[in-house]
Amino acid sequence: MGPQVDPVAPETGFPSKADVVVVGGGIIGTSTALALATSGHSVVLCEKGHIAGEQSSRNWGWVRKARRDPREIPLIVESLRMWERMNETVDAETGFRTTGILFAAETQADIARYETWLEHARPYQIDARLIAADEIDKLVPGAGRTYKAALYCPSDGRAEPQKAAPAIAAAARRAGAIILTDCAVRGLETTGGRVAAAVTERGRIACQSIVVAGGAWSRRFLSDLGLRLPQLKVRASVMRTAPLEGAPTTAFWSSEVGFRKCLDGGYTIADGHANIAPIVPDSFRFFGDFLPALRMEWSSLQLRLDARFLQEWREARPVPLDQVSPYEKTRVLDPPPDRPSLRRALANLSRRFPAFAGAKMVQEWAGLIDVTPDAVPVISTVESLPGLVVATGFSGHGFGIGPAAGRLAADLVTGATPIVDPAAFRFQRFADGSRPRPIAGM
Ligand SMILES: Cc1cc2nc3c(=O)[nH]c(=O)nc-3n(C[C@H](O)[C@H](O)[C@H](O)COP(=O)(O)OP(=O)(O)OC[C@H]3O[C@@H](n4cnc5c(N)ncnc54)[C@H](O)[C@@H]3O)c2cc1C
Repeated sequence: MGPQVDPVAPETGFPSKADVVVVGGGIIGTSTALALATSGHSVVLCEKGHIAGEQSSRNWGWVRKARRDPREIPLIVESLRMWERMNETVDAETGFRTTGILFAAETQADIARYETWLEHARPYQIDARLIAADEIDKLVPGAGRTYKAALYCPSDGRAEPQKAAPAIAAAARRAGAIILTDCAVRGLETTGGRVAAAVTERGRIACQSIVVAGGAWSRRFLSDLGLRLPQLKVRASVMRTAPLEGAPTTAFWSSEVGFRKCLDGGYTIADGHANIAPIVPDSFRFFGDFLPALRMEWSSLQLRLDARFLQEWREARPVPLDQVSPYEKTRVLDPPPDRPSLRRALANLSRRFPAFAGAKMVQEWAGLIDVTPDAVPVISTVESLPGLVVATGFSGHGFGIGPAAGRLAADLVTGATPIVDPAAFRFQRFADGSRPRPIAGM
């Protein structure tokens, strides 16, 4: 069984105009819609499938500062502030709890990497630190036998991916947003070189601004507008257990396995290191952009040629806006989970931590992560197309920073003082010769 996402009821009507149309109902689109609606703007969110159908319900639910790329730290600090009062803000249970997250260090090189990260984080006064075996054992009983050091951040937390974005969407609706599901945006219309309308499968919505928060689909959407966003997809698999007694509350990561406790007492579990990069036409198109990242992540990536190559190749050409778009043909990206890696993760977990030995699997799924060459998102206006804001490319860590990232996207739409300096997230960085790349050791 795949992720069981809290449903968001469909709207009955269809609006002909709004200030802003948001494309995509993941954590980023819903957070953008909430920020816009609560600041008094009329906003329509269009989701081609159901709210949080893709990455936003399929992730591990980690909300972390630890090991975060330094360019994202100001945003995660703001986001954690928002998560801490999220249940109150949206008047619903999103599962947010401050539980701490622990990254095991398996080698001297890991310790050196974590020390480097702590140096980067020092200006932000984050409470992360290196801990030794006895403290590891207190937090994750049994782990101190295997791991002599770990990076631990007590103020990091977790939330429930199958609940959070739906709860945020429902709150945005109560604040006045219109939330349309099963409603793909096929493209947009411009007047005098600026955004004038979103063209959806149900009709046209006149608007001044469009926010593209389409996750793994954003690169295609932008390409149809003549905009180049180097973005590839990586498949990651997760399973979830039934409630379990006696297992740790602190979330834990090692290269063998990652786990975190869920609100119902079950656990999400995954192989800490096994990601599959499907080989698709874009792999060749963006090879040069991704080469530095590929070199850095080589040990954790498995390249695989599968049915996606043909599908993406067949669907590559632009489709006229009055015809059925690829977004309608795949309402929900639901790739098959990599069962061997999940079985391996569970076996490793039960061997190291007997509390997991009898764990009963109740859900398993995979998600396609949208990655950029420097593993940092784009949250940006686009110089050549006034009225367009892009919020995408969260590279496997957008759930935690989602609330603040949505707020930043809303700030860029309205011209309000941005919640953080958006310079690191600008769209132009892939075209202005700055050759963006990941920061080693994060
Ligand atoms: C296995 C896995 C584990 C992860 N673990 C974590 C974690 O622990 N912590 C963390 O912070 N992050 C994690 N992530 C990453 C995180 O899930 C994503 O960064 C985040 O959910 C991205 O949100 P989004 O709204 O940009 O994209 P999505 O959630 O993918 O939403 C995009 C939405 O846009 C819709 N859409 C696209 N095109 C159109 C269109 N033309 N018209 C209408 N709708 C459209 C799609 O249907 C989709 O619902 C993980 C991801 C995966 C897959």
